[in-house]
Amino acid sequence: MEQTFFFVKPEAVRRGLVGIVIQRFEARGLKLKKLAVKQLDKATVEEHYAHLKDKPFFAELVETITDGPVVMGVLEGVDAIKVVRNIVGATNPLEAAPGTIRGDYGTVLPHNVVHASDGPETAEIEIKRFFG
Ligand code: UDP
Ligand code: MG
Repeated sequence: MEQTFFFVKPEAVRRGLVGIVIQRFEARGLKLKKLAVKQLDKATVEEHYAHLKDKPFFAELVETITDGPVVMGVLEGVDAIKVVRNIVGATNPLEAAPGTIRGDYGTVLPHNVVHASDGPETAEIEIKRFFG
């Protein structure tokens, strides 16, 4: 069994998409191990997206993740990291396949509904960062 971290982004929380996102993970057999509603602070979000700090969209990205609460959680299952990334879909919702969360509910970057860890190391770091 493997664990991974996700959060529903503030714009999607405002749109009422929390239930749909969690339903898709549960329908695929993933087990919810932790769940929380939280207003993230700027420093935490800047650390979380540090790999993108030189990109032109960094400031807007941090702004959109701190402009309201996220709903964040830990999911567990066989190959959970890869399975969740597949359910979430491609980063750009305009390129994400129909049937994926981003392909069905994403609008225009940086708004792509949900974050999910991209590998075993980031999953471990992110679970610690957001749940201690
Ligand atoms: N992002 C953006 N423009 C881009 C690439 C990424 O606004 O050209 C935002 C988008 O919200 C994305 C986040 O930055 O989810 C993190 O980017 P990453 O490359 O880690 O994509 P992800 O892992 O979320 O698919
Ligand atoms: Mg990423």
